[in-house]
Amino acid sequence: MKENTTQVLASYVEALHPIIYINHFDFHVIEDAIKSIDKDTYYHVFSHSGFEIDSRLDGSAQGQNPFLQDNEVSLVDFLKRFVFMGFNDKHFLVLKDIHNELQDLKVVSYLKTIAEKNLYKNTFNVTIFILSDVLKIPRELEQYITIFDLPLPDLKEIKDIVNNFIESANLTVDDDTVSEITLSFKGLNEFQILQILNLAYHDGGYISKEDKMLILKEKEQFIKKAGMLELVNFKETIDDIGGLEVLKEWLQRKVKVFDNLDKAIKFGVDIPKGILIVGMPGCGKSLAAKATASLYKIPLVRLDVGRLLGKYVGESEENMRRALALSEAISPCVLWIDEIEKAFAGVGSNQSHDVTTRLFGQFLTWMQEKENTVFIVATANDISNIPPEFLRKGRFDELFFVDLPNGEERRKILDIHLKKRNKFSRNINLISLIKETQGFNGADLEAVIKDTIELAFIEGRDSISTEDILKTIKDMNSISTTLKDKIERIIETVKNMDIKVASRKDDNEKNR
Ligand code: ATP
Repeated sequence: MKENTTQVLASYVEALHPIIYINHFDFHVIEDAIKSIDKDTYYHVFSHSGFEIDSRLDGSAQGQNPFLQDNEVSLVDFLKRFVFMGFNDKHFLVLKDIHNELQDLKVVSYLKTIAEKNLYKNTFNVTIFILSDVLKIPRELEQYITIFDLPLPDLKEIKDIVNNFIESANLTVDDDTVSEITLSFKGLNEFQILQILNLAYHDGGYISKEDKMLILKEKEQFIKKAGMLELVNFKETIDDIGGLEVLKEWLQRKVKVFDNLDKAIKFGVDIPKGILIVGMPGCGKSLAAKATASLYKIPLVRLDVGRLLGKYVGESEENMRRALALSEAISPCVLWIDEIEKAFAGVGSNQSHDVTTRLFGQFLTWMQEKENTVFIVATANDISNIPPEFLRKGRFDELFFVDLPNGEERRKILDIHLKKRNKFSRNINLISLIKETQGFNGADLEAVIKDTIELAFIEGRDSISTEDILKTIKDMNSISTTLKDKIERIIETVKNMDIKVASRKDDNEKNR
């Protein structure tokens, strides 16, 4: 990987790209790559903890120091020295974490001068590398800066790293395990991969498929550090969802694919793209997103389109690009886009914001072209304002409609929430509650159980009865009453759509 990085950087230097912005957190790997571009080029570093001048120039090699000796030098002072010197030799300036200084007009002006001299003066050969995990480009420097994304090792390179490790530790690991582990490592750099392999080896003295959990933990750290996506922590599993049997069965069918991704891909199985879940509020859509990640044992990351919007020109698009790239880098993962009706509503209409339209287009293209293992779970209440191209077949593997729970589902949901609170449904006549809760959503049913148990505790009772629950139900306004209009609108929208109903039909008991 390092050779690859070095080659690309060398080609930029050769082509006189004056400022190369490397947006990454692993400075160690990047510095190694820059140093390997050309051993004869002088190498100088500026960071907030001091600066370092190439030892061939700083006096330790030549007996004199043409540069500053103290570490209290400002970035402007540091740059000044390079602007006013004539060079025949080549120099690399490596500037670390200077994203905040890029708002300083003096710094911008010196960078610009150096960049222009590099471009137009034959005797001046100074290439600037900016290293930062924050991408901030001032408008004045846009035309001089080239952004370089550090490529992460591809699958072949990861496999080599894993195999080298296995060989040097004298281990025997079967090919199947190597392939699975290799796929899970995707998105991590060499350093991180070796760290995990070491950890796994010292933990059990061997490398096995179980080590995928360690890899998952490392990826979680990675997402937190990058900050573009929100890592969602959850405890819920598929068993916490009452009803929605058709959706659950669909998800369960893909478990084998996600557990054996490498084998499945080699076999020719299409990589699952994702699903759209539309429907009533409080009926388990978010629960389904969490259960999906738990079922496939992969991280759940949330993309909040509103959070990507920036104030500068192009900033939002750049944020979207980075967020999607990050999701790819940490894949396999579930990318959850909650409330897509808010993120992309009205796109293309007169009222829509230009930026939102562009972000939408960018997202669609990415979805269209994606050949990665990012599994999208998009959830929404009302999709009447969502552009139809988003909903076109082929974009998602399946579209699901989640209605208010039917009778059998209400029984199951009540049962789940009783058990969650250590109450046993054998003392409760759940069947008799079905009729009384018609029009309730999952969140309402949870609230019924929660409130009944709380009241019993406050009143000093040991247990709860069917009558206690019935009383709470009578006092509660279900969603069908409070959000009547919204519910009707949702039903109207999906009526003519080619969409799969997430629940199995219950002929006896109605939803609404
Ligand atoms: P919204 O559209 O308002 O975001 P949602 O469909 O995503 O709603 P959830 O957040 O999944 O709803 O549900 C809210 C809570 O209601 C859940 O945390 C869960 O406790 C309960 N709940 C909803 N549906 C179900 C269900 N099918 N089975 C069990 N519990 C449920």
